[in-house]
Amino acid sequence: MPRRSQPSEQPEVLRQSLVTLLTNFAAELENNDLRGKVIALIPAFHKLRDLGSSLITTTQSLSARDRVIAYLQHYPKTVVDGDELMVVSGIGEWARRLRELRVQSGWWIYSGVTFKDMADDQPEDAASLEELLGVDARKIKPDQYVLMRPDQDRQAAHRWHVLNDVRKKKISVKDKIIEYLRKNVNDQITGEELKYLAKDKKEWARRVRELRTQDGWPIVTRNSGRQDLPVGVYVLEEDRQAFEHDRGIPDPVRVAVLQRDGSKCVECGWNRTMSTPGDPRHMLELHHKQHHKDKGENTVENLVTLCNVHHDEIHRKSAVRRD
Ligand SMILES: [Zn+2]
Ligand SMILES: [Zn+2]
Repeated sequence: MPRRSQPSEQPEVLRQSLVTLLTNFAAELENNDLRGKVIALIPAFHKLRDLGSSLITTTQSLSARDRVIAYLQHYPKTVVDGDELMVVSGIGEWARRLRELRVQSGWWIYSGVTFKDMADDQPEDAASLEELLGVDARKIKPDQYVLMRPDQDRQAAHRWHVLNDVRKKKISVKDKIIEYLRKNVNDQITGEELKYLAKDKKEWARRVRELRTQDGWPIVTRNSGRQDLPVGVYVLEEDRQAFEHDRGIPDPVRVAVLQRDGSKCVECGWNRTMSTPGDPRHMLELHHKQHHKDKGENTVENLVTLCNVHHDEIHRKSAVRRD
C-alpha cells in the first residue's frame, strides 16, 4: 500500500488529525462489521506513518532512506531499535532501505548479530565494544543497530560490486574472506562486509582469526596489535603470508610481544606513526628467534617484533647461512 506522503505537514497538524481519526473510530468499534472497522482504521495508520516521518526536519525533502540515515547520524555509536527506524522511515519496507544503506552505500551500520559473532569469538572485542557502547555486545538484539562511523565510507560503497562477486563464488567462507581482503589491501573492511560475504554464517569471525593466526596473513584488528583501528574493522596490511615458520601465533601472544617491544622494530625502532611515503617500512611482523619448524615455540620469549625490512633481512641472512 503506497504511503500518502504529505511532507509539508507539520508534526502538530498531523497529530491533531490523528487524534480526530481515532476519536471518530470509537463509533466504528460499536458496530459488528469487522471489515468496516479495518477499513476505517487505514487513514489512522497512514497518518501515524506521516507523523513519524515528519519528525526528521530539514529544509530539503528527504526519502525514507535519507531519514533512516539522518536519524542514525543523530545517535552515532548508540544502540538503536529497528522499531525506531520504522517510525522515522514512515514506510513498511524500512528494513530493505536499511540493508541498502549498510551493504551498498558504505554506511557502517552494525547489527546485533554481527556484534555477537565478534564478541563470541574474541573476548577482547567484547570488552572494547562494551567500553564504546556502554552495553554488553552479546546482549544487543538482532534487530538493533549501531552506526559505528558518522560519515559515509565511500570506498566501501565502491567495493560493493567486488563484495557481491566474491560472495557468489562457490568456495569456502575462509577462501571468500581472504580473496576479498586481497582485493582490498590496506582498506578498513567492516565486520558487516565479512558477515555479508559469509552469507550470514557465524563462522566468519573465527575464519578471519584463523587466517591471521594459523595461516599467517597480516590481517590486523584493534585487539590483535593495531590499537589505532576502530573495533570491528579488519585490515590486510600486505598481500603476503608470513614466512611459514612465523605462523601459528595465537593473538594473546602476539599482543604480549608487541607490548613488550613497545610496538616497534627492535632493530631500528620503526613504529606505525613513523610511516611516510617512500619508506619501505610499512608494517610490523613477529619473528621466531628459534624457527618454529625447528621446534621454536610460539611463546613470548621466542618471538620478537621487527619491521618488514629488518624481518626480510634476517630471513635473507639465515637463508645464506644455511646454504
Ligand atoms: Zn626495522
Ligand atoms: Zn621470521
